[in-house]
This record gives sequence, C-alpha cells and structure tokens, in this order.
Amino acid sequence: MSVIRQNLQAVRQRITDAANSARRDVHGVELLAVSKTFGADAVIAAAEAGQGAFGENYLQEALEKIAEVKAARPDLQLEWHFIGPIQSNKTRPIAEHFDWVHSVDREKIAQRLSEQRPAHLPPLNICLQVNISGEASKSGVLPSETLAVAQAISALPRLYLRGLMAIPEAVGDAEQQRAPFRQMHALLDQLRAEGLKLDTLSMGMSGDMDAAIAEGATIVRIGSAIFGTREYAK
Ligand SMILES: *Cc1c(COP(=O)(O)O)cnc(C)c1O
Repeated sequence: MSVIRQNLQAVRQRITDAANSARRDVHGVELLAVSKTFGADAVIAAAEAGQGAFGENYLQEALEKIAEVKAARPDLQLEWHFIGPIQSNKTRPIAEHFDWVHSVDREKIAQRLSEQRPAHLPPLNICLQVNISGEASKSGVLPSETLAVAQAISALPRLYLRGLMAIPEAVGDAEQQRAPFRQMHALLDQLRAEGLKLDTLSMGMSGDMDAAIAEGATIVRIGSAIFGTREYAK
C-alpha cells in the first residue's frame, strides 16, 4: 500500500476519533488535502485513495499541477481550493481555475474574484480569512472588522460566501490550541445571528486538527500528515 494511502487512512481515522470525542457527526468534517510543493503524481495517488479535494498555496505551481493532473487523468473529478496569499493582480486565474478560495482577506480581492468568475461556472465558494491571533505578520481581517467585510462579500453576485478561515498562532499544547478555534466558532455564530447564511469553518492543520474539530471545524486543511515533510528549496 502506498505511503500516501496509508497516511490518508490514518488522517481519516484521526478525524473520526476527534469527531467522536466531540460528539460530532464525522460527516460534518471535510478533509482538504494540502498538496503544495508536492507534484501531480502525489495528487493522483491521493485521488486514487479516495481523496477528492485539494488545497494549494502558490498560484503558478497550482495552475501547472491542475493542468498536469487533468491531462494525465481526465477521468478524475477533483475539487481545487486556493488557500494561499492573494495578490490583487493575480485574481483572474484563481477565479477561473478554482472551486473554493479560503484566503480572501479584503473586499477588493472579493470584488475582483466576483467580476472575473466565468459565467459558465457556478459561483466561487469563499471563506473570509480572520487574523484571530492578532499577529502583525498574518493576513486576515480583524475580528472586529469581520461582520462588515462578510456582509459586503455576501452581496457580490458571482461569489458564495461559505464562512470563515483561520491560521492561529502555533502553540504546542492541545488545550491552548482550542482557544482561538473557539473564538472563531463564536464569530461565525455572531455573523449567523446577523442573518448571514454560513456553513463553513476552515480551520485545523496537521498539528492542531484535533483541537479545531473539537471546536467545530467543518474543513480541516492537512498537508504534511498526508504527503510528508515539505522542502522549501524552491
Ligand atoms: C500549508 C498549509 C496547510 C497545511 O499545513 P500542514 O501543517 O502541512 O498540515 C494548511 N493551511 C494553510 C493555509 C497552509 O498554508
């Protein structure tokens, strides 16, 4: 059995265990396989092991990989999620080639994605990224700005605002990890109370997915636990 298949099984088991501990339905937690820095062959191996949704951070790398996978395996129906930083002059290929964008962090980016989403495709699924730990180096809207930006995005015609995304500051201890995820859940509830129809909390990575699921994550974004350690030589 391939390593990727084995890792995927272990990650799915971890999701099941975390959902069970939290008394949540495991079907309410979707696994996004983060394939950045890994090649089309790794994506195909994961797809053959039943994985359908893939996350990418770097646009050029992603576009090449998507084309390569499509050419090699036109039979695979994969969903592509953009989860990396977005430059405003690079929104068009994102609007054209992805099904979801998790890393929208300002209204201007959302406006461009809406204008550039091709008419023959369904509305682009969007998560608004929140800087929940308030780190100066992190992108994302501040919690206090979230409602206004979410309302503006939800009015854009070619986007479908699904919810919120966060990358909290890395802390070791599982109990400490839960606090920012709990704040994210509370923030989502606030937006819903204001009338926004949202169903998604994109939070949790290889090191903190258990804490994220305990606090209500509906999508976990998992890279290294599936594909192995990344090398950033490029
Ligand atoms: C790389 C990355 C992940 C996956 O991280 P792992 O620790 O490898 O699971 C998830 N989300 C974002 C935004 C990332 O950049």
